[in-house]
Amino acid sequence: MRDVETVFDAHVDPALLDRSLAQSTSGSVWLDLPRPDHPPPSRPVTCDLLVIGGGYTGLWSALHAAHRHPDRRIVVIEADRIGWAASGRNGGFVDASLTHGFHNGKSRWPNEIDTLEALGLENLDGMQAEIAELGLDTEWQRTGMLSVATEPHQVDWLEQAAEETQGQLLDRVQVLDEVHSPTYLAGLYSPDTCAIVNPAKLALELARACRDRGVHVYEHTTATRIDSAGAALLVPTDGQTITCRQVVLATNVYPSLLKRNRLFTVPVYDYVLATESMTEAQLDRIGWQRRQGIGDSANQFHYYRLTMDNRIVWGGYDAVYHFGRRVNSAYEDRRDIYRRLAAHFFITFPQLDDVRFSHRWAGPIDTNTRFCAHWGLAREGRVAYVNGFTGLGVGATRFAADVCLDLLDGLETARTRLEMVRKKPLPFPPEPLASVGIQATRWSLDRADHSAGRRNILLRTLDAVGLGFDS
Ligand SMILES: Cc1cc2nc3c(=O)[nH]c(=O)nc-3n(C[C@H](O)[C@H](O)[C@H](O)COP(=O)(O)OP(=O)(O)OC[C@H]3O[C@@H](n4cnc5c(N)ncnc54)[C@H](O)[C@@H]3O)c2cc1C
Repeated sequence: MRDVETVFDAHVDPALLDRSLAQSTSGSVWLDLPRPDHPPPSRPVTCDLLVIGGGYTGLWSALHAAHRHPDRRIVVIEADRIGWAASGRNGGFVDASLTHGFHNGKSRWPNEIDTLEALGLENLDGMQAEIAELGLDTEWQRTGMLSVATEPHQVDWLEQAAEETQGQLLDRVQVLDEVHSPTYLAGLYSPDTCAIVNPAKLALELARACRDRGVHVYEHTTATRIDSAGAALLVPTDGQTITCRQVVLATNVYPSLLKRNRLFTVPVYDYVLATESMTEAQLDRIGWQRRQGIGDSANQFHYYRLTMDNRIVWGGYDAVYHFGRRVNSAYEDRRDIYRRLAAHFFITFPQLDDVRFSHRWAGPIDTNTRFCAHWGLAREGRVAYVNGFTGLGVGATRFAADVCLDLLDGLETARTRLEMVRKKPLPFPPEPLASVGIQATRWSLDRADHSAGRRNILLRTLDAVGLGFDS
């Protein structure tokens, strides 16, 4: 089939893009808030549990460990600032799915998918209840998720998804009634399976809850190794050495302290814009009364949502991998990508051509070959780790933290019995193969989006061997 243009190939006036981005600053809109300091330790530290990494995974692990074992000494160390990384830069979509969507989970674990879906919803409900119980100011809103079709073939996909997931299918008139975009052809509304939060506030409030439970939190403290020393583990940092019994390794996309882990994930950069706060008049032009999280349905998709102060956070589409698996802040400021994102924003909401962007930022996403988390134990069962959330970790990190604690406690639970937890994904090949494979896959996904969704031989082969990506 010949390539076809998508709605996002429409021309947008370059002067509008220039104007809209001219005043934007580089950095996450969420991290523009006062943050308490947690100075590094001034002397060697001894503890029962050391959590390495101060994002959601580490903070939920510490918080829940303090709940399970109030008598134990628990320490969190963070190389930079609490929540500065993915946990302070994401879209704030808290999705119930633990498997990067129903379809991905069902294709990998058909016998387990009902349990996985139930555990995912239980996790989302549990997170909501815990946030309320602890009084965490996270701007939690259980708004649900609206998936929209912007191409005719995506309408069929939404119809199929509606049958599988029991979402509410919306025809063109109904979806436009929710949010006014000339690009929408249909929608699928799932009221229960998604909330939105302020991501940085979630991280900072979790750190506060940890401190309230007696957890010691240290920033600017980078672990450099994990050594076994008899019954103890020794963790040298760039300051003091920490002696502990157990470790949760919650370092996400950053180079793992366990070398064996390094081939399992690659950093893929995701880019985001935030608008200035909109006026009531600007808001009226787009509707969006129910403030749902929104995602469009191509392989290369956008995700967007409103903030409490009525900005639109608009991200996704380009997912960029750089040769060599490196995480490097130099990859974040990509003028071409921000201009493309801005263009897609104005194609979606042409009536907002007087809205300007205030922030632009990016972050590396810890991606594995099955597109959802994998776990393991190391150092004779004293180190638990989790990696590979692949862009859907705001909710799943809480579940993942519980899995890590179950594994360290040697418990057999509904979580640890899961095949998803017991089995590892295939690793990525070393360079240059990784780079060649990932770029070919990206190219093919873009072609599929431009060919009414038809997948080429490479994508079909990857699907057949369980490596296929399907948004
Ligand atoms: C741009 C973007 C948008 C996203 N949008 C969404 C979304 O809308 N919904 C969703 O569900 N998911 C989203 N995600 C994914 C989600 O943000 C992550 O899956 C989640 O935040 C992972 O949390 P974490 O604690 O595992 O990792 P992180 O937040 O990355 O935390 C890991 C921490 O470990 C620290 N660290 C690393 N090495 C060391 C060391 N040696 N010593 C000490 N500390 C160390 C790092 O400094 C870092 O702070 C998005 C991600 C990005 C980048």
